[in-house]
Amino acid sequence: MRSPLNSFIEELPSSGIRKFFDIVSEMNDPEVISLGVGEPDFDTPWHVREEGIYSLTKGKTFYSPNAGLKALRDEISRLLDRKYGLSYDPDHEVMVTVGGSEAIDVALRAMLDPGDEVIIPEPAYVSYKPCAILAGGVPRVIDLRNEDDFRLRARDLEAAITDRSKVLLINYPNNPTGAIMEEEDLRPIAELVIKHDLFVVSDEIYSELNYTDKKHVSIASLPGMRERTVVINGFSKAYAMTGWRLGYAAAPRRIMAQMLKIHQYAIMCAPTTAQYAGIEALKNGDPDIEEMRNEYDHRRRYLLKRFRDMGIGCFEAKGAFYVFPDISRFGLSSDEFATELLHSKKLAVVPGTAFGASGEGHLRISYAYSLKDLKRALDRIEEFVAGLSAR
Ligand code: PMP
Repeated sequence: MRSPLNSFIEELPSSGIRKFFDIVSEMNDPEVISLGVGEPDFDTPWHVREEGIYSLTKGKTFYSPNAGLKALRDEISRLLDRKYGLSYDPDHEVMVTVGGSEAIDVALRAMLDPGDEVIIPEPAYVSYKPCAILAGGVPRVIDLRNEDDFRLRARDLEAAITDRSKVLLINYPNNPTGAIMEEEDLRPIAELVIKHDLFVVSDEIYSELNYTDKKHVSIASLPGMRERTVVINGFSKAYAMTGWRLGYAAAPRRIMAQMLKIHQYAIMCAPTTAQYAGIEALKNGDPDIEEMRNEYDHRRRYLLKRFRDMGIGCFEAKGAFYVFPDISRFGLSSDEFATELLHSKKLAVVPGTAFGASGEGHLRISYAYSLKDLKRALDRIEEFVAGLSAR
């Protein structure tokens, strides 16, 4: 029998995070602590859940318009304006998606011709490279550096640009490093994007999780960038709504019209119940965000201090809910370190290389876990590195 499969898909590796956590679940050991998954440990705020439930009791169990409920698009448009100074027409420039995940896929599929290059600064979220490939594009990776605070620098972007470059895919606050980019970092990037006639897909799903006293800045808000940018955001992180599968994209009409076609044929619409809950989240969820952000910040500070006290270099993550300690001095690869840590101390973290080769020498530790678990986990790391140093 000939292969029923698309060879492109067959060759695509599965996610490095999943691979690692398959081992964890096979161990089936209640003593194992996992700091691996990038998912809030908070429940969705009750008033948001109630709106979902209420929509069901009212029989709102039908498809929504393809682009999403009008009331939700209106709220998204208002929120982007209120928080980030972005102006998008809710009728033609906003689309509700099945998580930020779908928005990334659809944006790339709408923008790439076969062979177009997508510039991806790494370490990066695991779906970017595969989504670029699935959309017919060619990923071109920029290795970010710890000494640059894992921010994208203009010199590195310029060096990566070729005749085939089309899209720059960025994600700040960042998964896995926790890095942010401030306005002064984004400006030279925006200038290069305009100079070389590129477009940006900006995954801002962690925009509410910024622990500095400055607000998150979207690259789309810089001069000349609105027309070149697809902004991606969602509800999973800010409102602890991962399972509802709700996200959105905002883009100039010319790009959005094509994205909407793909969404229409592949998805139809995002879940209606989730959309009703989403309206409530955007309308009244700010205090919930504040509460969760304060708790994450508390945990972040705790982790940074523990690593400092242990003498493990840890870049000062200022956003999202990850820290990215540098374990290179122990002479193990990040994969070996994570595997030994799991087997000897029953602690699961993600090797930095799951996010690209430049993650080597690092671990990604999610602090979307209770402080109690984080304390126990850090004690285990401390014991583990004491053992390594004594070898
Ligand atoms: N982008 C980044 C950077 C993420 O970390 C995640 C979730 N881990 C997503 C997008 C997708 O989130 P969702 O589909 O749940 O909105």
